[in-house]
Amino acid sequence: MKLRSLKDLNVSGRRVFLRVDFNVPMKDGKILDDTRVRAILPTLNAVLDRGGKPILASHLGRPKGPDPSQSLAPVAARLRELSGKNVIFPGKVLGPEVEAAIAGMKPGDVVLLENTRFEKGEKDDDPALAQKFRALADVYVNDAFGTAHRADASTHALAVLFTEKAAGLLMEKEVAALSAVTENPEKPFVAILGGAKISGKLEVVQALLPKADALLIGGGMANTFLKARGLAIGKSLVEDDLLGTAGEIMEKAKAMGKTLLLPEDGRIAKALPAEKAEVSDLTALSADAIIGDIGPKSEAAFAARIAGARTVFWNGPMGIFEQKPFAGGTMAVAKAMAECPGYTVVGGGESVAAMEQSGMAARIKHISTGGGASLEFIAGAVLPALEVLKA
Ligand code: ADP
Ligand code: MG
Repeated sequence: MKLRSLKDLNVSGRRVFLRVDFNVPMKDGKILDDTRVRAILPTLNAVLDRGGKPILASHLGRPKGPDPSQSLAPVAARLRELSGKNVIFPGKVLGPEVEAAIAGMKPGDVVLLENTRFEKGEKDDDPALAQKFRALADVYVNDAFGTAHRADASTHALAVLFTEKAAGLLMEKEVAALSAVTENPEKPFVAILGGAKISGKLEVVQALLPKADALLIGGGMANTFLKARGLAIGKSLVEDDLLGTAGEIMEKAKAMGKTLLLPEDGRIAKALPAEKAEVSDLTALSADAIIGDIGPKSEAAFAARIAGARTVFWNGPMGIFEQKPFAGGTMAVAKAMAECPGYTVVGGGESVAAMEQSGMAARIKHISTGGGASLEFIAGAVLPALEVLKA
């Protein structure tokens, strides 16, 4: 996928509507993780270095209208610290305060609008709201990969109205990194999938099956496959309505000559949350067993596949890694990913958190900042905010 590049956009002396993803985790007005703020600094600096006037816009949380508890004010303060720039925060999404702030911008100044979701039309991809945003700027840049799978007024309807537009550097990097997985990945290509459920990830499984040489399945998702194979899984999380689908996926993998690896052992408890777990093969589980994680044999088998891969994509923890007795499998995969010399990509909210928790995130080739967006991209879905930026 080729996107219009910021390098080809004339920003000098012009107002640049820069859609970013500042949807940071917050608690009591404090930013818990500023990764997303740091992530757009290269794009911001590129615009400023070339004499542009950046007008930043983002959503935060899910407010239904103006809501002071979901204000971007703390993000404005953090952006000021991180960028060292004069970040002007008019405290409104639109209106005279915003217009005055933009009109008064001096070279090097940055304006950050208030939370776009304070405007009702944002979630509805409202063209009327897009027209109002359009009046604020001369050119458009979107660096919000995390929301690229949504058609919102500021990510989609607005982009349609601009002729001069581009993807930001973060967006470009995400698309290039994920395209290396979806388009002609270097072989062997190993995909590791886990997490709680298959539902919501079926498209990802279906899209990866023809491309990957091996699919390693762990986490709660594996339980449904194991049960479809006829194994007793006790009280483990399972999606009974997807047993047929899991069976079909395994048939398809076999017909295509693909390896589909399921865990052979697990870490088992009798109740959740668990203080401790027992390692057991998955062939003879008792009726009250709960599979909370993959076991050491499975870890070794998965790690061996990862070690020999030229491309690896990982989404979904191998177990309930939030509980200590069940963190081992996920940490083992994280370690194998870190040690793999091939092209390694991790995507998904909890998976990225687990990778960070492992302390080995820096050794991964690409960690996607977009949870849902990265999965939809891998699944081959049309991402509305990317469609409007295609070259
Ligand atoms: P991601 O956000 O990376 O896409 P998911 O949201 O699909 O991942 O899944 C993450 C969740 O899956 C974790 O919170 C974890 O506790 C849960 N999970 C993993 N393995 C199991 C299991 N065996 N049983 C129940 N839940 C599990
Ligand atoms: Mg998740």
